[in-house]
Amino acid sequence: MSVYTTQDMPRVKIIGAGLAGSEAAWQCARRGVEVELCEMRPVRTTPAHQTGDFAELVCSNSLKSDSENTAPWLLKEEMRRAGSLLLEIARACAVPAGHALAVDRVTFAARVTEAIAREARITVRREEVTAIDEEEITIVATGPLTAEALAGEIARLGAQPSTSAAEAASQNGAEVAALKRCATQNPHLYFYDSISPIVEADSIDMGRVYMAARYDKGSADYINCPMTAEEYGVFYDALLAAQSVEERDWEKLNYFEGCLPIEEIARRGRDTLRFGPMKPVGLIDPRTGRMPYAVVQLRQENLRADSYNLVGFQNHLKFGEQARVLRLIPGLESARFLRYGQIHRNTYINGPTLLRETLQMKAHPRVLFAGQICGVEGYVESIATGLMAGVHAAALVLGAEPVAPPRASAFGSLTHYVAHADAKNFQPANITFDLLPALEKKIRDRKERHRVQCEAALREFDAWWARAGAEAAG
Ligand SMILES: Cc1cc2nc3c(=O)[nH]c(=O)nc-3n(C[C@H](O)[C@H](O)[C@H](O)COP(=O)(O)OP(=O)(O)OC[C@H]3O[C@@H](n4cnc5c(N)ncnc54)[C@H](O)[C@@H]3O)c2cc1C
Repeated sequence: MSVYTTQDMPRVKIIGAGLAGSEAAWQCARRGVEVELCEMRPVRTTPAHQTGDFAELVCSNSLKSDSENTAPWLLKEEMRRAGSLLLEIARACAVPAGHALAVDRVTFAARVTEAIAREARITVRREEVTAIDEEEITIVATGPLTAEALAGEIARLGAQPSTSAAEAASQNGAEVAALKRCATQNPHLYFYDSISPIVEADSIDMGRVYMAARYDKGSADYINCPMTAEEYGVFYDALLAAQSVEERDWEKLNYFEGCLPIEEIARRGRDTLRFGPMKPVGLIDPRTGRMPYAVVQLRQENLRADSYNLVGFQNHLKFGEQARVLRLIPGLESARFLRYGQIHRNTYINGPTLLRETLQMKAHPRVLFAGQICGVEGYVESIATGLMAGVHAAALVLGAEPVAPPRASAFGSLTHYVAHADAKNFQPANITFDLLPALEKKIRDRKERHRVQCEAALREFDAWWARAGAEAAG
């Protein structure tokens, strides 16, 4: 099918040998396509990486749940069927972690590096890339800590700073201004991403909360969790005592007023939270006719209203600590968390504006984006998009038209989100059942619903992979 002879076949240039870039390189190579893989470490490092190895896991060592019929399992199952190198290596160096797939991070990165080095079709260049030739088939996989010069180059290609995403992450005008200041003080397109925790709607005790909009302005869309002075005191003390994620120096330096973690706000005084994210004014509880002592507001995450985020509750606590402390909030005693709060530097482009579902740029179809920078969140999601970008880039080299994965699959749901989410409020997403299409037939039982969704996803995935994904793989 190739339109090229072996001699003049173009190679794929991959920038960044992190999770996405390493997987993408492998997928190209196993399709007979030559790759130039450029990685700046160890010549130049990032604020979070510690080694020169490829696919280094910068924080936790977990590749999330391996329990059958969970969304992270579904994504991994599709990756397994697609022959993901990194997933295979992860399984080979797994450590005991209950239902999760966790790895020995040092062994994992070392084995990925070895596998890539052994592959004759991949030429590794240890250098920082600062320019992109839009005529050359290129995968940009430089991650959330993309070096500044390249971030500027990406901006030149049309990827403007996603300040709208910063707006989405913030609560009010002052925060928006602070986030924008942060984005402009730092070169081109990165800013500090503050992520508030998200809970599943049906895990909220609706008997303990009330719907209201502040000062009754607009419709009563927010769920309000009211606190008495006593409940606030218990929550406040637990928050101050909770363990934070270890901070690296660069993170410490760069906190800014607009997206302070709640535990930092709390440290400023016992009542500071009550004048910030837990402000009760204008939120009269219709059941008592009175204003509570403090309020935690929950905002709907998606159209289906099956998940809510805790407004202004970005934090830097360890995940276990978050679950413990946030379950002290009235109504959230049995909350199931879809995502925990986080704060970290994050570079990503505005996927819905710039990308097709095949991860190709709309304006420069020979340039593809993969990993965190394309608008997904998480290790597994980064590897999965690397896999897809590798398959699509190889198709371009081999003279075929890249075909996006089906909407019903986990792969397709991720790329559908990246290409079609609300551009104004775009933020990177993990794989969750929220991203998958709802079933035509309503199934009330959660477990059964997820089982049926996974079954449908894998059926669609297999059909696509047989046509588009596997055909050129060696
Ligand atoms: C501080 C932090 C903590 C995180 N913790 C977690 C976590 O615990 N769990 C989780 O699931 N996700 C986490 N993430 C999110 C995300 O999953 C990881 O960042 C993941 O590594 C992203 O994969 P990637 O391939 O997109 O980028 P990376 O794995 O970061 O790979 C990008 C590579 O590109 C290289 N590079 C950058 N610029 C250039 C250039 N100009 N030229 C050449 N090479 C370049 C970098 O050196 C790097 O090797 C975290 C992110 C950050 C920033």
